[in-house]
Formats: sequence, structure tokens, C-alpha cells
Amino acid sequence: MEKFDAIVVGAGPAGLAATYTMAKAGLNVVIIERGDFAGSKNMMGGVLYHQPTKEVFPNFPEGAPLERHVIEQRYWLLSGDSAITFSHRNEKFAREPYNCYTVFRARIDKWFADQVREAGALLIPETVVLDILRDSRGHVIGVRTGREEGDVFADVVILADGANSLLTEKAGLRRKPEPDQMACAVKEIIALPGDLIDQRFNVTGKQGVTIEIFGEATAGMIGTGFIYTNMTSVSVGVGVLISDLIRENVNPNDLLERFKAHPAVQPLIEGGETREFLAHMIPEGGYDAMPQLCADGLLVAGDAAMMVNGLHREGSNMALTSGKYAAEAVIRARKTRDFAAAQLSYYEQLLRDSFIMKDMKKYRSATRFFENNKHFLSLYPQVANMAVEEMMTVDGTPKKEKQSKIIREVLRRRSIPGLVRDLWGMWRNLY
Ligand SMILES: Cc1cc2nc3c(=O)[nH]c(=O)nc-3n(C[C@H](O)[C@H](O)[C@H](O)COP(=O)(O)OP(=O)(O)OC[C@H]3O[C@@H](n4cnc5c(N)ncnc54)[C@H](O)[C@@H]3O)c2cc1C
Repeated sequence: MEKFDAIVVGAGPAGLAATYTMAKAGLNVVIIERGDFAGSKNMMGGVLYHQPTKEVFPNFPEGAPLERHVIEQRYWLLSGDSAITFSHRNEKFAREPYNCYTVFRARIDKWFADQVREAGALLIPETVVLDILRDSRGHVIGVRTGREEGDVFADVVILADGANSLLTEKAGLRRKPEPDQMACAVKEIIALPGDLIDQRFNVTGKQGVTIEIFGEATAGMIGTGFIYTNMTSVSVGVGVLISDLIRENVNPNDLLERFKAHPAVQPLIEGGETREFLAHMIPEGGYDAMPQLCADGLLVAGDAAMMVNGLHREGSNMALTSGKYAAEAVIRARKTRDFAAAQLSYYEQLLRDSFIMKDMKKYRSATRFFENNKHFLSLYPQVANMAVEEMMTVDGTPKKEKQSKIIREVLRRRSIPGLVRDLWGMWRNLY
């Protein structure tokens, strides 16, 4: 029976980056994916960042199926019928190399998979990995797949099976995530003519816009709404902590319908035709919920390791980079043919020295901060919108009176010590 140098489970960005890096270094690698093809089961908003992608796939972006490059990032604070908006538009982002692009995972993952095959790795689709295999010492020696005679053997296994990583649980590296450590995201791809998108979002050619939306987008629950422009469609979605959805007894589809009907959102998608509806989980547990990353013969990368920075909409970059680092640790271990956890922990060192662990630690408590301060996503968007509405309504009331009214309203809803605590908390946890 053929034995591989490495088995990678899951053909998302983490698994494909790991496979590519090892194959390029001359290792005999197999990557096993349960979907019909790489990307068929995958979904993101989705913004893909140039620099971390190029670091893994040097050919990027030549020939890659990209939608628009993002030149403007907007942020909305939504109340029931109004929105405060601010945005950053930058001519630098309109020049190559672009900062980031909107993409469809079904297409971009396929492109990554092509690079992986060209590098010499074997990709086996339509195959579910059911469990990992260990020898008598407990050392991982391969995986059991759902196929007949489906055991596959290797010196090392990299788990890159995504947010709902049953395999890290089976391997005893993490417990089943709690509902407050996972978000459920739903998204629609709504087709619109390209020139109409250009007009509505004030862009031309292949330029694009992203909008992140807080407050009423998620009915004050912890999460965000988003609208991203593709070439001839827009991606519209909401993602909310599962614990909040359970507590409030809200169906994510209903939330998305409500979001699409908001008077600030509806004109952007009016006349569009829904092409696809997708749902996926997002790991939101942060640093404290990360699993053990190495064991004897085993490594975990990407979403399976909870590597998502939700506040900054970053996940694909962490997946690509962690996949590459996991591969580098395997390549190094192979020189001494020692795949024990102590050797493989070079992976942890690479992560610690990189932006990944630094950011994971910095934002370790962002979700918890919002959980303990739910009013940030309900009270503040409402009060901010009320204040702006008050100041902008010309009705013969002197501005001083309007200011006093706003201050009275704020203090009615939040005490001065509460406001000070909020500012301090924001500074410590989010900045
Ligand atoms: C709605 C949404 C919006 C997002 N927006 C962004 C964004 O704009 N920018 C960004 O950077 N990130 C974004 N993310 C996060 C990003 O998508 C993830 O961080 C990234 O995809 C993680 O890559 P991965 O390879 O670890 O996991 P995945 O992409 O989930 O890949 C895991 C793969 O493993 C396969 N698999 C699972 N179990 C098995 C098994 N037992 N056997 C075989 N195969 C298996 C799956 O089919 C899948 O192909 C978003 C996520 C969501 C859900």
C-alpha cells in the first residue's frame, strides 16, 4: 500500500496552501476533499487579500478568477430606518498590486487546486475523512476515509477541515465549540448588470466596494451584515453568533430577508435576481478557543484551528498563511524523520512570530466584549442615528436645545460611569 509523506484533509485555502508548499518542496502529498471539487462546499463574503495569497501561490493573480478589486470599504451603523455611513476610498487600492479582491470560493479554490495539481500533489475529491489512524504509541499514521478499503497512510496529517472540524474533536485536540464560539452566516448572490453596479456603488471597470454593517443589520445581535460587489452580482449576507440566534429564537434566513428590505439596502439590490443562497459557519471563539495545534504526527490549520479575526474580516489570509507554516514545519521535520509533536511545534513558533498569533491574542476578547456589552450593537447605533437625525432636521429648534435633547437621551439610556466604561473597554478590546 502506498504511503504518502503527508495527508491534508480539506481543500480550502488552508489545506491547498499546505499541500502546494509541501509538493513544491518535493514531498509526496495527497489532499482529500469531501466536496465534488475544491470550493464546491465553500463560502465566504468574500474578500481575498493579495499579499498573503501571493506569498503562497507565486503565480497569483495571473489567470486567477477574481471579481472586482476593492477600492472602497464602507461601514454603516444601521438603525430601523436610517444609517450613519463612513467609508475609506483610496486611489492606491485602484492600482496594482491591488490590496484585495472579491471572489467566489467555488472558482478561486478551484484555481488554487489547479496550482496544487501542477505542483505534483494528488487531490482526491468526493471523499470524506472519517477519522485519523494512530499506531500503538498514539502517533498519527494516516486517516480512515468513507471509501471501501479507504485507509490512507502518511508520516504526518494536516487537518484543514474548516470551521466545523469534527476531526480535531475526534483527535481530542478541542472540545465541541460552544454556541457563543461560532457564528452562522447566510448569503445571497444577487445578479445585476455590471454597469448598474458601477452606477449604484460609484465605481468603474473592475473596481469594487465592500460594506460592513452593524446594528439593525443583525437586529442588535452579535454579528454583522455585509454587501460586496462582484462583476455582475452583489453578495449580501448576515452572520450572527449561534448563541444569539438561539436566545432570540431568530431564523438567519428571516434576518437576511429583513436586512435586504432595509431602506438603505433595498435600493442597492433592487431589480436583482437571486442566483445562489449559501450558509456556513464562522469560528468566532478567538484565541481562547483555539485547539491544541500539534500532536505526534498531526497539525491543525485555518478555520479548524479557529484562526479568524472577525473584527477585521480576515480568515482566508490566516488560513493560507497557517497552511503554509504547517507545511514548512513538516518539511523541516522530514529532514530528521521525526514527526513527534516536539518537532512539529516549529509550526507554533512560526505562528507566534507572525501576525496570526499576534492578532489572535490582540482580539482574543472581541466577541466576548460584545457579548458582555450587547448595547454596543443596539443602543449606540440607535442613539447615534437619533443624534444625527436630530441635528440634521431643520425645524426651528435652536442647536443648543437639540444638543441638550441628545445628551438627555444618551444619559437616559446610559449612565456617565457606563459611558466611561464603554470608552475604556473599546480602547482595550477593539483598538
Ligand atoms: C459568510 C462568510 C464570509 C467570510 N468572509 C470572509 C472574507 O471576506 N475574507 C476572509 O478573509 N475570510 C472570510 N471568511 C472566512 C474564510 O472563509 C475562512 O476563514 C476560510 O475559508 C478558512 O479556510 P479553511 O481552508 O481553513 O476552511 P474551509 O475553507 O472551510 O475549507 C475546509 C474544507 O474541508 C473540507 N472538509 C471538511 N470536513 C472534511 C472531511 N471530513 N473530509 C474531507 N474534507 C472535509 C470542506 O469541504 C472544505 O472544502 C468568511 C467566512 C464566511 C462563512
